[in-house]
Amino acid sequence: MTNEWNTGALDMPRFTESGSAGDWQTPLSGLPRVQAACEPDAASAPTPICDWSLLGQTRGNGARLQHWLQLQASLTLTQRCQRCLEPMAVPLAVDRWFRFVADEATALAEDDTCEEDLLAISIEFDALNLLEDELLLAMPLIVSHGHCQPPPSAALGDDLPHPFAALAGLKLPKP
Ligand SMILES: [Zn+2]
Repeated sequence: MTNEWNTGALDMPRFTESGSAGDWQTPLSGLPRVQAACEPDAASAPTPICDWSLLGQTRGNGARLQHWLQLQASLTLTQRCQRCLEPMAVPLAVDRWFRFVADEATALAEDDTCEEDLLAISIEFDALNLLEDELLLAMPLIVSHGHCQPPPSAALGDDLPHPFAALAGLKLPKP
């Protein structure tokens, strides 16, 4: 489905107040931080496509009006099994709600006192950046087939960038 919204600079108040929704398909090459955490040898395979969607809504009214956003995404990556060192498909799934507040300072101040994840509202909200953040957080910390054998001369942790490296500086989600 195509739509009018610019995912790199989304008018979030308009998106939520109009109860808008959108679906997108973004190739892995359009998600460079996620791509950097993947197995580079898989370049010959078809480029993975991330299917993702946003749903905006408001709750409450007047001075208590709240802006909410749901992000859903799915993407299957190729990463290297940390035990047998063979490539393996790693499916990622994201389904998360966010509440918008006035600015970053408010988000930080309120973050400890509410259950939901907070974001600063913007008329140029970078939804692609949020998508990348959430896909990185959805990556398993340990990539393993579960029932495989290590190679005879396993050199574990050689040249594969660990998913954690890409997480540096990210705020971890609440459980
Ligand atoms: Zn394995």
